[in-house]
This record gives sequence, C-alpha cells and structure tokens, in this order.
Amino acid sequence: MSNLQRFTMVVFGLLLFFIIFPPNVNAQDGKEYKVGASTLYVRNAPASNAQIVGQLSAGDTVIAFDEQHGWVMTYYAGQEAWVASQFLVAEKQDTASAHSTASAATAQSANANIVVAANGVNLRTGPGTNHNIIGSASHGDTYKLVATKGDWHQIELDDGSTAWIAAWLTAPANGNQASTPAMATQTNQQSDNHAKRQSLAGFNIVIDAGHGGKDPGAIGPNGMKEKYLTLSTAQKVRDVLQSEGATVIMTRSGDQFISLDQRVQLSNSYHTSAFISLHYNAYPVLTVNGISTHYYSSSGPDMRLAQTIQSSLMQHVNMTNRGIRQSDYHVLRTNGDLAVLIELGFVTNPYDAAKIQTGNYQTEVARAIADGLKIYFN
Ligand SMILES: [Zn+2]
Repeated sequence: MSNLQRFTMVVFGLLLFFIIFPPNVNAQDGKEYKVGASTLYVRNAPASNAQIVGQLSAGDTVIAFDEQHGWVMTYYAGQEAWVASQFLVAEKQDTASAHSTASAATAQSANANIVVAANGVNLRTGPGTNHNIIGSASHGDTYKLVATKGDWHQIELDDGSTAWIAAWLTAPANGNQASTPAMATQTNQQSDNHAKRQSLAGFNIVIDAGHGGKDPGAIGPNGMKEKYLTLSTAQKVRDVLQSEGATVIMTRSGDQFISLDQRVQLSNSYHTSAFISLHYNAYPVLTVNGISTHYYSSSGPDMRLAQTIQSSLMQHVNMTNRGIRQSDYHVLRTNGDLAVLIELGFVTNPYDAAKIQTGNYQTEVARAIADGLKIYFN
C-alpha cells in the first residue's frame, strides 16, 4: 500500500475497530501486553457495546488475567475491565521480532552460548551487513557468545577467532528456539520425491509475508486483515516451492511485527536467489481490483522476474491484470537481491475479497509463483 492508502486504511481500520474482534491473543494470567493502537478503549464487559470506563494509549502496558473471544480482562482503576485483544502486542512477541535474542543474550552470563536458527547465515567481520562475509553458519550450530552490539552477536569460532552474526537469526542455546523470529530454513525432503524433477533445487527463495503483529496492513470492510492473508499465502508458497526443491526462508512464520529493514537484512544474510514480498491491496474506491507485480530497478532482472510472475499469475487465477509497475518500495529499493513485490488482490473490492480469502486462491497463487520462478531460473 502507498502511504496515502495506508493513511486512509488506518482511519478505516479505526472505524472497524468497533465491529471486528478476531481473537488473536491467548492471554495467560499476568501476561503483559503493550497497547499497539493509538487509542484503546477500556470497557466494563467483553463486548463492543459495553460501557467505556477509560482509555489507553499506544505503549501502555496491559496485564491480562483472562481472555474471552478476542477480549482481554485486566484491572482498570481497581475494577475488572476489558480491552479488545487485537490491538495488544505481546511483550515477548514484540521484543522477539526485533531484539529478543539481543536482549536475551545481554541478560545471559558472559560465557553464554547461542545457537544458529537458520541455514546459510553469514558470519561477518563486524556488526552489520556492510561488513565482509568471512563464513557461513548452519541451523543448530552453537557458538560461544563474546559480545552483543545492537542486533548483532560477536561469537567465537572453532579456531579461537571471532565473527559477527545477526542476533535475530540465533537463539540462546538453552532457550526456547520457537521464540526466535528467524524462520528456520526448511529444506525439502528430496528422498520423498525421487521421481519428480525438482526444478528449483539449489535456489534459496525468501518469502516475505507483508505486515504482521501490530501492523495489520490493509483492512477490508468486513474486517479482513492483510497480515493474515499474506501469512497464509506465504505458507502455501513455501510448501509449493519446497516441493519443487527450493530452500525457503520466511521473514516471518507467525503474527509478528518485523521491520522492513529486518526483512531486507534477512534476505541479505543468505545467498538469496529471489526475494518475493506478498501483499494484498486496499483502495478507497471499492471497484478497484486485481493483481500487480512491482519491481524497483527498471531494467534488468527484477523487471523480468516481475513480468514472468505476473504472467504466470494471470494464467492461474481469474483476476484483473493490473500489470507490472516500477515502485519505490523500501523492501525492493534497499534490497541487493533479485526482488519483487506482489499485490495479490484488493481487500476493499467485494469480488477480490471473496476470492483471496480462500485456500484455493492462495494455493493457485503459490503454484503461479513457483511456475514463474521455474520459468525465470531455468
Ligand atoms: Zn501491504
């Protein structure tokens, strides 16, 4: 979405706030959340028509004691009170998306170990992707942590020398790896598919599900949220690409907030063959519909991949063809890898909205993207 569209949809989203309450928080007693919306009303019962007893602001902490159908119970001015959970950000989840491993490591003793949470993670001479690559680490590799600087860990290698690794691609060695935002790379099990030719074997594809966590992306008139559509579509794309032999890296595999820079850095941390960002669109004029594929560099591989994928999509799904477009999106402009961004339909258009939420549609999208990549790379 553009900034203007985004602004429009944020206003739209606030209106919808009162009528949509998908449960997305599983509260535990005493669990802390932060308010992720600019204003969050506190009510005396878990219902949108319940009396408002107060209001919270972005960043306020909510301690949850119960959860019911999208409402979290807390205490407000000494009284039992309820807030809609959809604009709450789990403290652990929020920090996990950006700095959890760094802060977790900071809290560890000086001789803590970290474990690498993905395959092909670059080891560098310094704390940042601008530093030279001096090696590579694999999922499950364990290193002694020497220091932490920002989002980067300095680790000790077998020969006693040190290197830097992106903290968000690691987890504490004794910690819960499930909490790491780094999506473990999942290689295809080729032994199951001897007979099938795997056209994407050897290719590393980064699949970027747009938005997530406190950033819902576009919100449709019926409450459909872009962040859920992009995630479920990304999972289907991952499955199809893996069945074709590709190694797939997901920028997120759950409902987490991941910054645009982190998405690009994740891509840059791998020998990425292609970065594909998945989005759904929104527009105030509800008749606007269809699919478009976006690229940044107007000549060369990005544009060619965009064209190949857009053509493949048009063969797989019956949607309006909005063509390919040169667009100044951050994840494309700052990305050193081959990169495209696909807008897979409009949550604001009734025809598109009915289709895009179906598994059939998202599976066809996944097949179309896989076909497009196969055509491009082979
Ligand atoms: Zn989007």
